[in-house]
Amino acid sequence: MNRIGHWINNKVVLGTSGRSGVVFNPATGEQQAAVDFANVAELDAVVASAKAALPGWRSTSLSRRAEVMFRMRELVDANRKEIANIVSLEHGKVPADAMGELARGLENIEFACGIPALMKGGYSEQAAGGVDVYSIRQPLGVVAGITPFNFPAMVPMWMFANAIMCGNTFVLKPSEKDPSAAMFIADLLRQSGLPDGVFNVVHGDKVAVDRLLEHPDIAAVSFVGSTPIAKYVYETGTRNGKRVQALGGAKNHMLVLPDADLDMAADAAVSAAYGSAGERCMAVSVVAAVDSIADQLIDKIKTRIPNIKVGAGTDPSAEMGPLITREHRDKVAGYVHGAAKEGAKVVIDGTAKAKDDGFFLNPSLIDEAKPGMKCYDEEIFGPVLVVTRVEGYEAGLKLINDNPYGNGTAIFTRDGGVARQFQFDVQVGMVGINVPIPVPVSYYSFGGWKASLFGDQHMYGPEGVNFFTRGKVVTSRWPDPRTSSVNLGFPQNR
Ligand code: NAD
Repeated sequence: MNRIGHWINNKVVLGTSGRSGVVFNPATGEQQAAVDFANVAELDAVVASAKAALPGWRSTSLSRRAEVMFRMRELVDANRKEIANIVSLEHGKVPADAMGELARGLENIEFACGIPALMKGGYSEQAAGGVDVYSIRQPLGVVAGITPFNFPAMVPMWMFANAIMCGNTFVLKPSEKDPSAAMFIADLLRQSGLPDGVFNVVHGDKVAVDRLLEHPDIAAVSFVGSTPIAKYVYETGTRNGKRVQALGGAKNHMLVLPDADLDMAADAAVSAAYGSAGERCMAVSVVAAVDSIADQLIDKIKTRIPNIKVGAGTDPSAEMGPLITREHRDKVAGYVHGAAKEGAKVVIDGTAKAKDDGFFLNPSLIDEAKPGMKCYDEEIFGPVLVVTRVEGYEAGLKLINDNPYGNGTAIFTRDGGVARQFQFDVQVGMVGINVPIPVPVSYYSFGGWKASLFGDQHMYGPEGVNFFTRGKVVTSRWPDPRTSSVNLGFPQNR
């Protein structure tokens, strides 16, 4: 059985706690590895290695840091297929989806290569007589990233690329369900010339997370995962004096107006609902269809669903893979089974024909879902699309704004004025106009509103640079014997 250890000081270190987790191949349902879980002492040792590396790394010139990151960019690019394969084996996503994850993660590494341009401060010459004032940005220290199972390569790249380019050292606690991508990435960073201890990986569960949240040498925590854990991480981390950004779950609505291109809308809804088996925080999970076109739109979605080829990542023709675990598959199926009892209409039941081996489900479609029903209220995180019928634009907007989540949303219409009004009114952090999965490019920042994000800095891009640095302002005067005198008054600038 393959055993996955931690990554400390640029090498694999096997765990000593005696505790471990099971890593499945979701396409077969079989265990393929065991991952060591850190105890408090092991976690402390990882943080100590990151702390020891900090003085050297933060003194390393920006150009040298960028050189390492440029090399990392080349290595990730050269190893796209290899990383995608690792992701596919442990997560279950099909190769095209895993390659997409890699491409979007790589954008964050490319952005980080240019961070020296964002580390520039301001400078005010002669703020007072002979006095100059300037601002600088400095790293926070040892920072941590805690990541979810659904993007085991991309989400770590959202975090570590900016964090280490800004001069921090980093401890990653990846999802215990698919931990191998993080280990492969760690070795690429070593090959890129990153000094020992700057990037570390520690595997584990709540024990490791709790120690990170209370460890006195951890300055900041960047978290991505489900809303209850995000809230817990935010509250615990900030109570312990840390800077925290904690991104949570979602229920993303796609509002389809009567003037939309309905074929385009149906293609978008099917792609965004069932891609990655719905295990995306930006998946479209609710189509809010205006009544007058709802039947027509549902027919178009219905005819597309049977064409989706469900299969393992090893099958090149597969478009949708299995879910992450058996428990999760059964939980997702439970939403479909419960929907009819709640008064919704199950148009396609994808649980009926699911394969026995592996954690597969076929796509499901539920119509007439409403707030108050579990299938509408909760994040399903599986291949289940629910449709809620609304009277018109205002009712659709209200539905979205009343939802406790605010990660992503999209409007489908040909009316630019209405689309602009939607962008103005909607209480959601990332908005698509005829674009179903509006994940921002790496030079913007990613983040939801309301229960989809705790903290005030979004992830990656410019806000990621802010998150991993803090400002300092220097007021400076050089001795000039011609102007020196004793003056006990409060310093004035005029
Ligand atoms: P999760 O919350 O179960 O786990 C996330 C991380 O927290 C993992 O590293 C896990 O080990 C750790 N964790 C789990 N339970 C914990 C506990 N009780 N105490 C401390 N730590 C704990 O999330 P997941 O199932 O891995 O990922 C799916 C969720 O992540 C979905 O809700 C999805 O919407 C969300 N997500 C959000 C975004 C975003 O950007 N907003 C992106 C990807 C995924």
